[in-house]
Amino acid sequence: MNEPAPRPIPMVDLTAQYPLLREAIDTGLSQALDEARFILGPNVQALEQAVADYLGVPHAVAVASGTDALHLALLAAGVQPGDEVITTPFSFIATAEAICYVGATPRFVDIDPRSYNLAPAAVEAAITERTRAIIPVHLFGQPADMPALNAIAARHGLEIVEDCAQSFGADVDGVMTGAMGTTGAFSFFPSKNLGGYGDGGLVTATSEAAASQLRALRNHGSHRRYYHDRIGYNSRLDELQAVILRAKLPHIDQFNNERRRVAHRYSEGLTGAADLTLPAEDGIGRHVYHQYTLLCRDSDHRAALMQRLDDHHIASAVYYPVPLHRQAAFNGTGPGQVAIPAAELPVAEATAERCLSLPIYPELANADADRIIEVLRGA
Ligand SMILES: *Cc1c(COP(=O)(O)O)cnc(C)c1O
Repeated sequence: MNEPAPRPIPMVDLTAQYPLLREAIDTGLSQALDEARFILGPNVQALEQAVADYLGVPHAVAVASGTDALHLALLAAGVQPGDEVITTPFSFIATAEAICYVGATPRFVDIDPRSYNLAPAAVEAAITERTRAIIPVHLFGQPADMPALNAIAARHGLEIVEDCAQSFGADVDGVMTGAMGTTGAFSFFPSKNLGGYGDGGLVTATSEAAASQLRALRNHGSHRRYYHDRIGYNSRLDELQAVILRAKLPHIDQFNNERRRVAHRYSEGLTGAADLTLPAEDGIGRHVYHQYTLLCRDSDHRAALMQRLDDHHIASAVYYPVPLHRQAAFNGTGPGQVAIPAAELPVAEATAERCLSLPIYPELANADADRIIEVLRGA
């Protein structure tokens, strides 16, 4: 009786990084407030340059969110109403929403059971004369099979918009995610690997033409103030978010290495645990573990494990419980819904029933990972 309850372990601890970066952030914010250049100011410009340098891309255009990054990237790729865009059903909804924003139709195809990423063979089999682009998602921080997808895109004349919302800093043979497709869409949502203290996003581009379009698209279709070449949007990254992201960017490799430390500790500790399939690093690039997501035996087993973790004050989560092709948003004809042809995507469906994500963030201590391993092993 009266033993103190163990400290709760959250999925992500957003309080952990600020003390480390306090000086850089506070100084930068205070300077930005003094200068008062709040819209597309010097910090946004400096962040764009620093991210382009880090990723090894010629152009980076900061925008208001990861969702907007996908939307504007599809517009810059020339995707139009009536086009089809092939993507994964096992992702956050924003990937597919962006396709709908431009009037195109998402075409969901099945995933690889080990990496949870788009299966290239399924992509190629789904191409029609209306297909205009592919959106691979580097899900949970693991690069999609970009060599295979780029070869398919080249064979069929398709654009690739990489969804890099979960993969900042992941690479394939030294080429960063976001540097392999036509464009790459990043999110700076607070819990992402490189997260701000509010919403934010960024699009990378290899061509100056695409970058120039993106700069206009985020700013009311304007290259020159009060001259508007097209209908655009108000989707600028906030200057204060840029300050915070500039302070964090120099540490991103260290943060990602710490995520890998936690992930590898889980994988070592859980090897051989009954009825658990551990996440595979499938050899295509370096996984930066936005999430550590394993498979349980079935949904009952998952519910039991989640309950057991909760009893020990340990958070866990299901990313994602319903694949996109099964969401009401894609199976209705009501306001805001899009009807797509019924599809059976058995790997995505089974994965959604069995997947379980464990707490992961750079500051998660080995001792806490070990506690989680013990509970999962039923100790
Ligand atoms: C977070 C996320 C997005 C959307 O980013 P926001 O900044 O929240 O708009 C898009 N795709 C994936 C895969 C994501 O995880």
